Amino acid sequence: MQVFKFGGASLKDAKSIMQVCEIIKNYKDDHLVIVVSAMGKTTNALEEVHKYYIENNDKKYEALNNVKLYHYNLLKQIFKEEDEVYFEIEKIFFDLNNYISYNYTNFIEYEYDQIVSIGEILSSKIMYYYLRSLDINVKWIDIRSGLITDDYHREATILFENASSKIKSIFSSKGLYVCQGFIGGTEDGISTTLGREGSDYTAAALAYILDAKSVTIWKDVPGVLNADPRIMPEAIKLDSISYKEAIELSYYGAQVIHPKTIKPLQNKNIPLYVKYYSDPNNSGTKVINTDEITELPPIYIYKYNQVVVSVMPKDFSFIAEENLSIIFKHLAEHKIKVNLMQQSAVSFSICIDYNEQKLKSLLNALSYKFNILHNKNLTLVTIRHYTNEAIEKIIRNKNIILMEVSRKTARIVLK
Ligand code: ADP
Ligand code: ASP
Ligand code: MG
Repeated sequence: MQVFKFGGASLKDAKSIMQVCEIIKNYKDDHLVIVVSAMGKTTNALEEVHKYYIENNDKKYEALNNVKLYHYNLLKQIFKEEDEVYFEIEKIFFDLNNYISYNYTNFIEYEYDQIVSIGEILSSKIMYYYLRSLDINVKWIDIRSGLITDDYHREATILFENASSKIKSIFSSKGLYVCQGFIGGTEDGISTTLGREGSDYTAAALAYILDAKSVTIWKDVPGVLNADPRIMPEAIKLDSISYKEAIELSYYGAQVIHPKTIKPLQNKNIPLYVKYYSDPNNSGTKVINTDEITELPPIYIYKYNQVVVSVMPKDFSFIAEENLSIIFKHLAEHKIKVNLMQQSAVSFSICIDYNEQKLKSLLNALSYKFNILHNKNLTLVTIRHYTNEAIEKIIRNKNIILMEVSRKTARIVLK
């Protein structure tokens, strides 16, 4: 069996949904698990609903209505007027509207999962009904009953031991299944989400549990390119990369693959294909277990909205072990991931993602012992397989705040 994953961009409008279903049609007699994300920017739109909901702001209704209008506009283009799908979708919106009409009583992150998870329920239902309308035999699966997670809402962890037997039994017989990415459920049946962009990870987790032959992630780009084409339109496709390279790229922030996706596949040696949904004959990028692909062009990864924090001990002591351990203790307590760090005799600098609350609280916590400077609105550019020309291209006319160059990777923080 194989796993396909379609992201929001490949399900953003009637035309793309039709293209995607044309692809699926070719596999209609196979054993195929189809994992879908919420359509277009639905997750962002539902985050808005959640935000107003917890603020107890009546704009929550308007925000939800926008999600509804978007989906209805889509339905009108691909279904006949009286189709069963309308009743299902209407009910989902009715229930959600009802849910948000009560004031929230539980935790913010818990409420996030109850609201935002609906995006994938909607998209999977729409896909299910549309595939059926094309005479494709397919089952709709509520993955929340099989993909068991802990209850760390908004960033839940899949409990593979608990999920395994359930997932195996759900998908055991040959056929087509459509299910949701990004969402899971606790043992008690409470909805959870796996963190933004988590659908890639769902596809990998299911493939791992089911010993799939391969996973294909269908994107709005021809494959993994050597840069985000929105930033560098001249970016070129990488035909083949190793698991290790893919892990590095996603770790450094290449948005094209979610960082947690590769490990489960690597563990079972399951190949990952990244392909273009509007050009399915294009071979895309193959991610496999190999040491052979040594010749790669420079690969550029941009991370915006970075902050560099530099701390200097107030007592003029050196940045030695004792000071470092204090700094790291505070970073760990704030769950702050360090993207880059640099040490000198009397100062220590870190580059982190900007999060106003966390930054304030960190600066506060450190200020008793350190003088602190910080610099916002920076960009961290990572260049894998850099060349001098590649570095030159990036830093030209820019102000370098930090830079670190290792054997394969150059990382530069720019203003
Ligand atoms: P999906 O909704 O399918 O998960 P995403 O928007 O998360 O899609 O990821 C696809 C986008 O990732 C592309 O549209 C592209 O702009 C961006 N991207 C960033 N880095 C790369 C890269 N190295 N190669 C290809 N696409 C990239
Ligand atoms: N729909 C979710 C998001 O936008 C998950 C995903 O697309 O992978 O983050
Ligand atoms: Mg994505």
